[in-house]
Amino acid sequence: DMAVKKAVLEQAREMGVKFIRLQFTDIFGVLKNLAITVEQLEKALDGELMFDGSSIHGFCRIEESDMYLRPDPSTFVVFPWRPREGAVARLICDVYNPDGTPFEGDPRYALKKVLAEAKEMGYTMNVGPECEFFLFHVDKEGRPTTETHDQAGYFDMTPIDMGENARRFMVLTLEEMGFEIEASHHEVAPGQHEIDFKYSDALDVADKIMTFKFVVRTMAQRHGLHATFMPKPIFGINGSGMHMNQSLFTLDGENAFYDPNTPDQLSEIAKYYIGGLIKHARSFAALTNSNVNSYKRLVPGYEAPCYVAWSLRNRSSLIRIPAKRGMSTRVELRNPDPACNPYLAIAAALKAGLDGIKNKIKPPVPTEKNIYHMTADERAVDGILSLPGSLQEAVLELQANPVISSVLGDHILEKFIEGKIEEWDEFRTTVHEWEIKKYLTLY
Ligand code: GLN
Ligand code: MG
Ligand code: MG
Ligand code: MG
Repeated sequence: DMAVKKAVLEQAREMGVKFIRLQFTDIFGVLKNLAITVEQLEKALDGELMFDGSSIHGFCRIEESDMYLRPDPSTFVVFPWRPREGAVARLICDVYNPDGTPFEGDPRYALKKVLAEAKEMGYTMNVGPECEFFLFHVDKEGRPTTETHDQAGYFDMTPIDMGENARRFMVLTLEEMGFEIEASHHEVAPGQHEIDFKYSDALDVADKIMTFKFVVRTMAQRHGLHATFMPKPIFGINGSGMHMNQSLFTLDGENAFYDPNTPDQLSEIAKYYIGGLIKHARSFAALTNSNVNSYKRLVPGYEAPCYVAWSLRNRSSLIRIPAKRGMSTRVELRNPDPACNPYLAIAAALKAGLDGIKNKIKPPVPTEKNIYHMTADERAVDGILSLPGSLQEAVLELQANPVISSVLGDHILEKFIEGKIEEWDEFRTTVHEWEIKKYLTLY
């Protein structure tokens, strides 16, 4: 640990770093940061940097607001787009109480706890996310719009438009920051893109998702565009998902989901994991799809799931098993969207899967039909439930499920639910444009 700290100090000096952003994520998935100068770095690395947590939404009360940031030295990286002289770097931090215990409201800590539980059972978790986002124009005053000139679709090559240039810079910058980018392409909707980076262990990936979103937005801004990870910015076309490919590895490095001796080459562990995901899907939706707008994406017809089912092929189901086997054997969970808090979303999915393994929960038979085309009666016969239809329904399901609630711990659970009920009430009582269009002249 001392050696890693020394390495960070040395690197900072070599690279002419002047400012360090100490980053952490609040419970609603928003990246926060505090900038320090390099002169404070040693103190910060020793975990002696205090901040006032009372103004962070959902963190803590004014009476007990002293918090400490403990940087994770392995997350040190320089921002390639800032000047070389007086360079800027960042460190992702864990949040601690003054008495030296981890802060219960820190989502990174919530994920670490479930990862420790997995480790006790003999597993590590790998995650490969597929982040989708829109690039929109800004208006004359620089305010984001929902407009794009881009008319391209899935995998299209566009004539050199601003979107393609921006995407190229995003990929190059992410690579400079240590990401291994596997693919990037235009998505189905006009102005929509996807960039995929290589799977890695769950905590690293949660950190990377936060970094990814922030870099993509920064690079877009530098191209005069606005990048949004809002799940469904435009009615009537595809929304943005963040498919979560996941697998468990044994501690000796084997893929625990792979079994060459079964007909579908999926192990019993994989089946139980799927069973757990299916059982708890309605309850972890509040964490994978965590805002009002998330539920406007989860509707039939736009490649986003709305029914709780799994399948070896078809993309209308919640869970798909990609064809690759061996070390690449994995489960693709398709409901998460990129506005989620990745620490909590990953923790909840893992917890659901581990519960499946512990309790040997058998998944239902896989559904190979296009579920969008099934009637409600046909779905009922096959026992296929719907995902929650609104944030309110999702929050009620979360509250009623002790297994998934336990992932959050009392602190996050209370603040999260309080915040989400407030959000829902605000939405519920707002008069929307749709209502004006529908009723103003009719009545
Ligand atoms: N955009 C779709 C979603 O909402 C996914 C489309 C795709 O990756 N094929 O999940
Ligand atoms: Mg993809
Ligand atoms: Mg996609
Ligand atoms: Mg996918």
